[in-house]
Amino acid sequence: MNEPSTVDEAQLQAAARMITAARYCTALVGAGISKESGIPTFRGEGGLWTRQGEPPMNGYQIFLQDPRAWWLERLAQVRTPPEFARAIDAAQPNPGHLALAELERRGLLRHLITQNVDNLHVLAGSDNLTEIHGNRRKLRCIACGQRGPMRDFADDQVPPHCEHCGGIVKTDTVMFGEPIPPDFLRASVHHTERSDLMLVIGTSATVYPAADFPLQVLRGGGSIIEINTTETPFTPYAAISLLGPAGVILPRIIAAL
Ligand code: NAD
Ligand code: ZN
Repeated sequence: MNEPSTVDEAQLQAAARMITAARYCTALVGAGISKESGIPTFRGEGGLWTRQGEPPMNGYQIFLQDPRAWWLERLAQVRTPPEFARAIDAAQPNPGHLALAELERRGLLRHLITQNVDNLHVLAGSDNLTEIHGNRRKLRCIACGQRGPMRDFADDQVPPHCEHCGGIVKTDTVMFGEPIPPDFLRASVHHTERSDLMLVIGTSATVYPAADFPLQVLRGGGSIIEINTTETPFTPYAAISLLGPAGVILPRIIAAL
C-alpha cells in the first residue's frame, strides 16, 4: 500500500520543467524506491536494522579471513534464505523503477547511480546504470574485478575461483568494510561531475561515498530534486523537495512532462 503524497501539481510541473531544461540530469537512488516492491529498507520506519539491530560492520574482513566458511554458510541458507534475500527474490520493479527507465528512454536521464543491490533497475529496463553497491544476482572476483552471473557451487568448489585470474570470487554485493569497486566509483564520479541536475530518490543520505554525490552537484553550481517519504539532511538544499512515495511521484512527473 502506498503512503499518501502531499505533493501538489505545481511542484510536479516545476520538477518536470527542471528535468526538461537540464543539460545533464542524473539520479541517485536508495533503498526507499524498492520499498514499494516489498523490499525493506535498512533504516527508518519498518527498516530491517530498526527491527533487528545493525549487523557487524566488518563483513568484508570476516569474508577475507575465511572465504570458504563464508561461502559454506551462504550455501546453507539456500533452503531457508534470510528475510532480505527472500524479499529480493520475490520482488518486481514498481512504477518508480519503470518511470526512471522511461526518463532514460526519452533522453532526459543520462545516468542512474543506485545504492540498491536488488537488480530491479535492470529488470525495469534502465541501461545507463551504475550499481555502486553491486548486484545480488552477480559474482565478482576480488583480484581482477571480473563479474559474472550468480550460479550454484558444490561444497568442494568453495570458495570459487576466477576463471580469468584464479582470484577468489565473492558475491558482487559490496560488503560492509569493503571498498567500492574502482570502476563503479570512477563511473559515479564521471557522471556526477557532468550533472547540472541530480534527482535524489529514496536515500537517507548517510552512506558514503554516495551521499557525497549530490553535494558535489551543488558545489559545482547544479541543483537537486529530492523525492522521499521523509525529510533528509539534503532537504534544505533541494531546489524542489517532493515528499511522498517514489512509486507515486515519479510517474506523476512523467505525466507532467
Ligand atoms: P536507507 O534504508 O538508509 O534509507 C531509505 C530512505 O528511503 C529513507 O530516507 C526513507 O525515508 C526513504 N523511503 C522509504 N520509503 C520510500 C518510498 N516509498 N519512496 C521514497 N523514499 C522512501 O537506504 P539507503 O540510503 O539506500 O542506504 C542503505 C544501504 O543499504 C544502501 O547502500 C543499499 O546498498 C542497502 N540496501 C539495499 C536495498 C535494496 O537493494 N533494495 C534495501 C535495503 C538496503
Ligand atoms: Zn579474477
